[in-house]
Amino acid sequence: MLDLHKTLNSLKDQAEWVGLRRVKETTTYRTFRDEKPDRNSISSDDGLMIEVLCNGHFGYAGTSDLTSSGVQRAFKKALLMAKTASPFAAASFTTEHRPPQQGRFESPALQSLDTLSVREVSDILCEATKAMNLSHKMISRSATAMIIDTEFTSVSSSGADIFQKFSIVNTDLSGTAMESGETQTRSENGGLARCFQIGAEVFNRNEILDRSRKIAEEALELLTAENCPDETMDLLLAPDQMNLQVHESVGHPLEYDRILGDERNFAGWSFVEPKDFGQLRYGSPLMTITFDPTIPESVASYAFDDSGCKATKEFLIKDGILLRGLGGLESQSRLNLPGVANFRSSSWNRAPIDRMANINLEPGSSRLEDMIASVDRGVFMMSNKSWSIDDYRNKFQFGCEYAKLIENGKITKTLKNPNYRGTTIKFWNNLKAVSQNRETFGTPYCGKGEPSQVIRVGHTTPYCLFQNIEVFGA
Ligand SMILES: [Zn+2]
Repeated sequence: MLDLHKTLNSLKDQAEWVGLRRVKETTTYRTFRDEKPDRNSISSDDGLMIEVLCNGHFGYAGTSDLTSSGVQRAFKKALLMAKTASPFAAASFTTEHRPPQQGRFESPALQSLDTLSVREVSDILCEATKAMNLSHKMISRSATAMIIDTEFTSVSSSGADIFQKFSIVNTDLSGTAMESGETQTRSENGGLARCFQIGAEVFNRNEILDRSRKIAEEALELLTAENCPDETMDLLLAPDQMNLQVHESVGHPLEYDRILGDERNFAGWSFVEPKDFGQLRYGSPLMTITFDPTIPESVASYAFDDSGCKATKEFLIKDGILLRGLGGLESQSRLNLPGVANFRSSSWNRAPIDRMANINLEPGSSRLEDMIASVDRGVFMMSNKSWSIDDYRNKFQFGCEYAKLIENGKITKTLKNPNYRGTTIKFWNNLKAVSQNRETFGTPYCGKGEPSQVIRVGHTTPYCLFQNIEVFGA
């Protein structure tokens, strides 16, 4: 058994500063398709990242060999890397970039996942696919659950001592209907939306069966729906599409490592420049965006990032003005700008980089029914289906699964194949109403970095109404 404190004691006199981060993770998948088991798997992972500071440069080495010789080997590798690379460093760092915080965090599960057997989860998923069997036109019905248990433990030679335990469940229900060459799918965003820090209460049988029936009803409804018109008009977006809109057109462009150019050859760059902070009008005065790691169910809530920085709620955009970006302590000192506690790694075998966590749109003062009533002609879109955005995070085109036409303040008919396009700043400046109520969604699949890191992010967003938006049918 690896004792992190003993290991740290054996290494700490051999470098200016040493940090150890152990990550243990177990992932369980259960998928049912058309009432038959499709995927059943459990995988586990356990390893240690060793970080050292030498001549103002951090060196890293990860290992899954947790014997004392394995750890020694990784330590020497990290030290050699820091020493060898330090003459070429782009910036100089100190122990100030690794605060000695101490604390614990645990996901707020009401009911432990251990109280639910694998059999019970499988039964609910099987029933969900059965509940979608409303017609012979339903050609594919699936239900998936991914259950993740993760523990991050960090200690450092300057006194950091952090334990964070995450209980995460990602579910997806999906139904595809087909008739006369027309195929339509309704889902819970293909597994990109319903990812939460939650316990066994997420497997509420009645609620899941209700959602399953609704998915099948809407997939069948889309078979005979009209195509979304090609027109410039009002666009109302549901939180399960706003989630993606915020992620792609606000979260990614505000990442400091993109703005610094570090990610230019990998995940891309940003149209945002350092001089924009404090003055750029990003959106209309109704747009207020926060970095908020305190939303209980949200999948990216935590108490500390991987540098040991304490996570607090911060305003990124307030009343439409850009104030702050998404960067941890290292990027903050390189840019001389304030940031947030978002220096995160995907696992023990990756060095932390600037990532999104919970990026949220703050609620407005409108009621959804009043927002609909205010529209003369517009489209109400929900559930993301496709996305495309350029490397600068400026021009985008997004598609949704399901939409309603709004005419003279009333919802009139269902529309299939709805899409819209725009450019980031113009689009957000067309925001004309934000609802009071909002919903939380998340995804386990935000990709970035080299070598690649797939990480969990959450978004809590209201319904939003935009004016003069180009919408089109595919
Ligand atoms: Zn992403």
